[in-house]
Amino acid sequence: MAQTPSLDVVIDNAKRYADIAAEKTNEIIELSKLKLDKAKLQSKLREQYRKLGKFYYDIATNDTTSETTENMIDECIDAIKALKQDIEWVSEQIRSLKPHRICAVCGAKNPTSCNFCSSCGKKLY
Ligand SMILES: [Zn+2]
Repeated sequence: MAQTPSLDVVIDNAKRYADIAAEKTNEIIELSKLKLDKAKLQSKLREQYRKLGKFYYDIATNDTTSETTENMIDECIDAIKALKQDIEWVSEQIRSLKPHRICAVCGAKNPTSCNFCSSCGKKLY
């Protein structure tokens, strides 16, 4: 005769599935938030490039280069460097949130399309 699971076990299982579902939802929210951040940063980056282009145009078409323009170019370049770093960081966060299969043997993260671990070669379940 099959043993009826105790209520504790049932509640425990239900709680575990709810936790997994909540975690998945959080990951999805986090992922869309990061993608939005990345799009915003990329748009800011394009804006800085555009400004930089205009400053250079101003210099090239004027006989005298104003100090203000040169300072603005430096600011623009600094902003571009910072934005590129931010974009790289956000991209890294997005990559780490992508669905993956963890190898039970070595713990390496593998893309869901993999059937075998890219690190140790063991079968992934
Ligand atoms: Zn492995």
